[in-house]
Parts: sequence; C-alpha cells; structure tokens
Amino acid sequence: MALSPGTHPPLRVAVLGCGVVGTEVVRRLVTEGDELAARAGARLELVGVAVRSLDAERDPVVDRSLLTTDAESLVEKADVVVELMGGIEPARTLVLRAVEHGASVVTANKALLAQDGPALYDAADAAGVDLYFEAAVAGAIPIVRPVRESLAGDTVLRVVGIVNGTTNYVLDSMSTAGLGLEQAVKEAQALGYAEADPTADVEGYDAAAKAAILASLAFHTRVALGDVDRVGITALTADDVTWAERTGHVLKLLAVAERARTAEGRDGVLVRVQPTLVPSDHPLAGVRQAFNAVFVEAEAAGELMFYGRGAGGAPTASAVLGDLVSVVRHRVLGGKGPVESSHADLPVLDGGEARSRYQVRLEVDDRPGVLARVASELAAQDVSIESVRQTLQTSGDDASATLVITTHTAPDRALRATVEAVSVLDVVRRVVSVLPVL
Ligand code: NAP
Repeated sequence: MALSPGTHPPLRVAVLGCGVVGTEVVRRLVTEGDELAARAGARLELVGVAVRSLDAERDPVVDRSLLTTDAESLVEKADVVVELMGGIEPARTLVLRAVEHGASVVTANKALLAQDGPALYDAADAAGVDLYFEAAVAGAIPIVRPVRESLAGDTVLRVVGIVNGTTNYVLDSMSTAGLGLEQAVKEAQALGYAEADPTADVEGYDAAAKAAILASLAFHTRVALGDVDRVGITALTADDVTWAERTGHVLKLLAVAERARTAEGRDGVLVRVQPTLVPSDHPLAGVRQAFNAVFVEAEAAGELMFYGRGAGGAPTASAVLGDLVSVVRHRVLGGKGPVESSHADLPVLDGGEARSRYQVRLEVDDRPGVLARVASELAAQDVSIESVRQTLQTSGDDASATLVITTHTAPDRALRATVEAVSVLDVVRRVVSVLPVL
C-alpha cells in the first residue's frame, strides 16, 4: 500500500518540552509539515507543547496558544507523544500514561531509558504501540536503528563509542590548547557544550546511560545503568594528555560494551565507561571537538563506524523526527516496529573480568634495580610487559625517573593487584596513572 497523506486522517502529535531539542522539533513540524506528511502517510497535527513556564521567552516559531503546563491532559489526547523534557519524573509517568492511552512514544531521554527502559518497553509492548529512541544515543547519529535492525541478522562482538560530546571537547582542548581540566571545562561551558553543573558529563554518567542502552540492544540482554563500570575524566591532568601523545595515543572517554568469557568459561557482557588511550591511527582518535562516533565490530559485517553530531537542537531533532515518521507510518499502515529483544539474557560480568592492554605511569627513584623490582611484581601476577620507557628528572640533588610501562593484554583484576603491589615498593614514589589502551 502506498503512503498518501490525503487518505488518512491527521495524527495528533503532542510534544513534551520546548527547550533546545523541543523547539527544533516544533520548528520542523511547522515548516516541513507537507513533506513530513508525504513521507509519513498522514498529516502530523501538533496539538500541544507542554512546558514548565508559559511566560518564558520562546522562539517565535512556537505558537504560544499551543503551550500548556498540563502535560497529563495533553498526552491523553495524542496519537503520538514526543517526550523531550528530560529527567526521570514526570517524564516516566507521562510516557506510561501516553502508552496506556494507546499513543506511540518517541523520546530522547537516555537517563529515563537507562534507568527504567524495561518497564517502559513492556508497557509499550502490552499496549501494542511503538517506543522509539534514536536520539537518546549520540544525537543525530543513526546508531540505535542500525544496531537494533540492520545488524539483527549478525552477532555484535563489541561496540566502542565516543558518546559524550562535552568530555570529548574537554579532552580535545586539553590536547590542542594545552589547557588543564578545569580550564577546559570552563571553556566548554562558555561555548554551551557543557552544562552549568557538568557532573553528569565529566563523571561519565551520561556516557554510562548510553552504554547501557547500546549494550542492551547489541547483546539482546537487559543492561541497567548500575551494571556499567564507570570512571569519568575528573582525575585526568594535562600531563596525562601529554604522555598519551608522547606514546602515540589520544586520550578519549570511551564507552565499551563487549561480549566476554570468564576464566571459568562463562559467557557474558562487559560494559564500561573509562578514559582510554586510543592509538593515534585508530579511526576514533580523529574524532575531535564535540563530535561523537560509535565503532561496531560484528561477526559477519566486520568493522563499522558511525560519526556525527551527538548533540545540539537541530541535529537531535533530526533523529527525533526520523523516529516520528517511522511510528506514524506504522500507525498508517498497521503493525509496529521492533520490540525489546532481551532473549539472550547474558550475565553482565564484573569489570575485573575485562581484558586490555594497559599503560602504567610511575614516578620512581633513579637508582639501579628499580625496573627489575617493578617487573618482578608484574610477573608475579602474570602480567607481561610490552614496552618500557624511562625519563629522568632532576631537581637539586634529587633524581627521579618516570617509568611508562605498557603491558600485553591482561585481566583487569590482575592489573589492579599488580598496581597495588607496585605502589608499596620503597623505590616507587607514586603511581601517577593507570590507563587502558584500546
Ligand atoms: P531543555 O533545553 O532543558 O528543555 C527541557 C524542556 O522541558 C523545557 O521546555 C522545559 O520547560 C520542559 N520541562 C521540563 N520539566 C518539565 C515539566 N515537569 N513539565 C513540563 N515541561 C517541563 O532540554 P533539552 O536539551 O532540549 O533535552 C531534552 C531531552 O533530549 C533530554 O532528555 C536530553 O537528554 C535529550 N537530548 C538532548 C540533546 C541536546 O543536545 N540538548 C541531545 C540528545 C538528547 P520550560 O521551557 O518551561 O523550562
């Protein structure tokens, strides 16, 4: 059956939230109405826009007569609800209410999905409506649909992403402008890349929410926010960035979700967010400023890379409207899109099971035998050394050295034990940093 907006009654669309993303969604609904109707097969009639404040200054494209603070009544009269208010409540209650009333839902709310996704997917499934969320991971970049639909016939092995533009911008300016972390965060705030309270970004919570969503889709397994091993960028220094470069790497905050097997042969998934040294010839090393990218490795497809703008009103609205057209098509033609796929139900493994190469930077006494003592602690945990680099520093009579040890692939658990043992050696003044290498 061909799609023809003339033959199907208009569908009522409610938008919850009219901020950075909501305003751009409204703009395109208003200015691209005919084109969207032709693509979707029905006119999209904007029946209301829920906000907190009716008096706030808004873009003139938003018809003030559509604004309401009564979001609950608005969702009850819509065929499709577009949730763009963010946060957990009242977004969660409103999405559930919309679904109970038979409305399909499009949301960009990663925090809500990472916390309560399964309850929302179940409710949408029971009601026979769509719940779409392309914009919740990496803004404009199509990644939810490729993982959920295009790769449905393949086996995803690993997903590695730069999924938080703020931290990527901060690390990039530490590297290119030589800024310290605090200064780089301030610059990101001044340019609108970071919130006034940057905690969710710099502590890795935002990236962890996206990692949980991607891992759930990729491995057909429910992965919650609390399952993600998370380290933010707050402990990183300008020195870490400089040493990364000296050793041929770029420092990135990566979200990594992968299939893994424990030493006892148990299969599962590992999901973590952590600052990682990316070899400078890896495609993710070239992802600069506030851009995002997701690298997927699948059994049959091999390596795939998705790159683009991970935030911003217009780019995010692109993903939201793509979902909106899809869910409207389903309503026009009958049927619905894919439901949650969690049949694999793999255990989420403890972060200690992760295996990686590591770079360990130590400040040590400059005297004979130091390297041998450090190396013997590594050997005791079966962690083998790939390379060592030593640089001397002298300050008056005091001579110390920086030792940069890169290991072969080792279990995270063994590496942690090694670092603990090395840190108490009398010749080791300080363990300066321990970073995984991609
Ligand atoms: P925002 O600029 O802060 O806008 C939030 C909007 O929601 C505002 O219009 C606000 O009303 C309204 N709102 C908040 N609480 C409400 C409540 N209790 N009742 C009614 N309205 C309420 O947020 P945003 O940046 O557009 O983000 C929206 C969603 O998209 C979030 O889930 C976010 O994570 C996601 N997202 C954003 C981006 C991005 O680049 N911004 C990218 C990807 C995903 P007032 O206008 O009256 O304050």
